[in-house]
Amino acid sequence: MNEQTTRNPSVVVIGAGMTGILLGIKLREAGITDVTILEKADKVGGTWRENTYPGVACDIPAHMYTYAFEGNPEWGHRFAHGDEIQAYFEKISRKYGVTGQVRFNEAVEACHYRDGRWYLTTSQGNHLEADFVIAATGILHHPAYPDIKGLEDFQGAMFHTARWDHSVDIQGKRVGIIGTGSTAAQVISEIATSAGELTIFQRTPQWILSVPDKHYTESEKARLRGNQPLMDKLRERYAWLIRNTFTEAVSSGGWRHKLLSWRVKRHLRKSVRDPALRARLTPDYKVGCKRLIVSSTFYEAVQRPNVHLETNGIDHLEAGGVVTRDGKLHELDVLILATGFHPFNFMRPMELTGRDGLSIDQAWAHKVQAYRSVCLPGFPNFFLMLGPNSPVGNYSVIAMSEVQGNYVLKLIDRWRRGLLPSVEASAEAMRRYNAYLKQGMGSTAWVGGCQSWYLDADGDPALWPYSWKQWVQEMAEPELADFVRAEPGEPNRALPDREAA
Ligand code: NAP
Repeated sequence: MNEQTTRNPSVVVIGAGMTGILLGIKLREAGITDVTILEKADKVGGTWRENTYPGVACDIPAHMYTYAFEGNPEWGHRFAHGDEIQAYFEKISRKYGVTGQVRFNEAVEACHYRDGRWYLTTSQGNHLEADFVIAATGILHHPAYPDIKGLEDFQGAMFHTARWDHSVDIQGKRVGIIGTGSTAAQVISEIATSAGELTIFQRTPQWILSVPDKHYTESEKARLRGNQPLMDKLRERYAWLIRNTFTEAVSSGGWRHKLLSWRVKRHLRKSVRDPALRARLTPDYKVGCKRLIVSSTFYEAVQRPNVHLETNGIDHLEAGGVVTRDGKLHELDVLILATGFHPFNFMRPMELTGRDGLSIDQAWAHKVQAYRSVCLPGFPNFFLMLGPNSPVGNYSVIAMSEVQGNYVLKLIDRWRRGLLPSVEASAEAMRRYNAYLKQGMGSTAWVGGCQSWYLDADGDPALWPYSWKQWVQEMAEPELADFVRAEPGEPNRALPDREAA
């Protein structure tokens, strides 16, 4: 063992959601003891802490939506409810001693790289130094508010789904909801029975896959308790199913895509008998182009007598409600904005500068990009978890974080062993990686004629266009040739240039 083997880096992890908790556990297992986790809120959980809207659930089967090392025999439903998932993360975080490691109510405001170290400033006015920074800040956490004329004029209650106002009682009220994405589909199914009148303002129809929910009985739970191998089997079975029926279908097309398309179209045909309503619910783009919605209850909710599908388009808002382009005023007491998120913010608005004062806004001015989704040229020893082109698309983000976490740990290990002076992907590797991604995009459903949050400013889907298996294989070992060897202070060969974008 040489001297370098014993290098014990200091690591700051930003965020204590699903990924931050995982990193807290895995860094410790790797023998890295100087770890600080900073969390802006007062508890762990990330997206599951923030999203508390009625009907919030995970449309990935619960037994697949767990860490590989710790299944959860207590799931109550095939599609776990938000509060169950939050409870799972809190439990794991406590059990593995992560909760005690987290500094809560402390957001990172600035993060600068100088002379081989990272210098951070937090919202508490504290200053930290670290060898490595890992942003486990999530993807969909900045609510997108619609740019609609008169939004501020509305006098009723109005809130975004990710900021649900639980003091507002919707029982018997005239409720409007803007949006028909995965979130809206869950909210609509849940509140259709309690709202007096519910108007859905649909700009674009969505394809919907019906997979029935299932309630797990006490005896089913008992069978799983203490039986991790059985839970592993269940997780792998669901993962296999999702990969084969969905993930591969949207990325490589072929017969899988045909089968998926047939299933969703049949679901629409069988569920909505009125041809005029069915026509308004029928998308004109490829199945899977937008993230497929998984719901066995949405069409039923839309056809309730107190639910109205409005497709005329919104002209503006005024004090009493929403005015559609046909001039009709839809009077409302409550307006719910299920209008999604800004997916390309990632760790921003945190101030982040890498080598030679390169800011993240400069680095991403031409394209939001990351080598292998986690490494940013120009930002040594900085990792972005679930960064651009992470293979989302109805797959478990936990599985993705586990693969990326392992990759990051291997890179830190190379630094510890002195094989890399700093961990920084080269601009050339970034360029090659982008070209490789682009090559695969043509056969995916995401370029199938729709607008979606998957697409970046250039219209390129920020997803992984190949198979899950290929991604796992390629992430298994870092290719050291793709990382720069310059010591800090030497001429910067890693800065991304316009061509790399
Ligand atoms: P989203 O998929 O981006 O949907 C936003 C909706 O708002 C769309 O229907 C959009 O219409 C509409 N919209 C936005 N601005 C509008 C405007 N100015 N006027 C009219 N309509 C407007 O957002 P989301 O439903 O919150 O879902 C985001 C992602 O979160 C999902 O794709 C998924 O990855 C994740 N999610 C996951 C789960 C789960 O169960 N795992 C649940 C919820 C969310 P257009 O289609 O016309 O743009």
